[in-house]
Amino acid sequence: MTEFTSLTISRALQLMRAGDISARELTEAHLQRIDAIDPSIGAYLAVTADLARRQAAAADEARAAGDDKPLLGIPIALKDVLSTKSIETTCGSKMLKGYKPIFDATVVSRLYEAGAVLLGKLNMDEFAMGSSTENSAYFPTRNPWNLERVPGGSSGGSSAAVAANMALAALGTDTGGSIRQPASFCGVSAIKPSYGRVSRYGLIAYGSSLDQAGPFARTAEDVARVLGVIAGHDPLDSTSMPTPVPDYVAGLRGDIRGLRIGLPREYFAEGLQPEVEAAARAAAAQLESLGAEVVELSFEHADYCLPAYYIIAMAEASANLARYDGLRFGARVDGADLIDSYKKTRGAGFGEEVKRRIMLGTYTLSAGYYDAYYGKAQAVRTLIRGEFDAMFEQVDALLAPVAPTTAFPFGEVTQDPMRMILADVLTISANLAGICGLSLPCGFDEDGLPIGLQLLGAPFSEERLLRLGHAYQSATDWHLRKPDLLG
Ligand code: GLN
Repeated sequence: MTEFTSLTISRALQLMRAGDISARELTEAHLQRIDAIDPSIGAYLAVTADLARRQAAAADEARAAGDDKPLLGIPIALKDVLSTKSIETTCGSKMLKGYKPIFDATVVSRLYEAGAVLLGKLNMDEFAMGSSTENSAYFPTRNPWNLERVPGGSSGGSSAAVAANMALAALGTDTGGSIRQPASFCGVSAIKPSYGRVSRYGLIAYGSSLDQAGPFARTAEDVARVLGVIAGHDPLDSTSMPTPVPDYVAGLRGDIRGLRIGLPREYFAEGLQPEVEAAARAAAAQLESLGAEVVELSFEHADYCLPAYYIIAMAEASANLARYDGLRFGARVDGADLIDSYKKTRGAGFGEEVKRRIMLGTYTLSAGYYDAYYGKAQAVRTLIRGEFDAMFEQVDALLAPVAPTTAFPFGEVTQDPMRMILADVLTISANLAGICGLSLPCGFDEDGLPIGLQLLGAPFSEERLLRLGHAYQSATDWHLRKPDLLG
């Protein structure tokens, strides 16, 4: 049955349409795979086997009755930051242990409406804060390519589940790189949509002006299929945009000849692992050979992205996490009086990284510091957005590595929060500017760890990025390689 779990969505849909496999068989194969493999990976916080079986049976019945919804019978899984009605949603935190939302996130209800089958909820850094999934309050997730390495983060459960054939696709969220970087560390394809492309309703907030949900899958084509289902305006999220959703799958067939691709010099500067730089440059050459035009350009504000991001993200996090006080939300620990209860609840419920960020965020928002830090960071953000607008007048997409290195060993970077923050240097600009970013496998380092390529595009240009990604994958086979560790 292993072959069922290594299918692409496109192939699985063909086989189901032809009556060669059923959604039930596909789902059972995945549940068996999770039972067999996940004890050594730790991608799943919870497996929703009963629901999956019911949804798969319903999908088979619907197909027999002539239904052909875009994801009918496709087994997927969700980062545990996404609210699922009556299914525990912890956000990787003890604070939300036992919390069962009374509603589904819009992206979840759209997946259900498209016929997807939910396998379960995936591990993550607590409240999506981190780059390695080591900050999960439950257990770390391991990288399927090397169990001693991190899968990236904060959506490490999502990338590991897809890489280890424990779901055909997964959703994650990206506030500063948390979709693109784990996809790169685990050798899968994924997209961070433009801000406002996908509803945030029911996505448990970290940095509300930065967060976006997006799909992980095996190919750009599968990413396009899932994005088409979850994208679009939602009256329940006032920041989602009414811009029409193109047919992303149909868009893959377009031509890439003549598209201009920019390589920002600052993203190829020192500090990159040599194999990462070489693989990204080779990918640019590959796109050039397919007819794209590659030019170098300068991203002058590149150095300001990290400081601006960490001030804004922490400020927004401190405001968003104020609701976990044991009264409104959160597992309450009773104390001697109200203040003592707040302290005990927040003291016991949050991990170290979350506390550090709440304190720093509260500091930068406090009277006397607001203008110096938060106000300044917002002004810098406007400059960064302006510079991207100018770059996208010259080029159709930007190309860079996703992360400066491949997956690092457990413990090594966690000891040093500054090093962990530097791991985000190439991804966070996209969130500050609200632009979209696609992450694709583009090679391996000497230790056999996957390397990721990042393509960035102007707001709402996902269709073009996916077309570039599809053209790249039609000419290369990096995305087809599988970790052999797990058989
Ligand atoms: N590593 C970044 C952070 O910790 C990004 C996380 C994310 O995108 N959720 O803020």
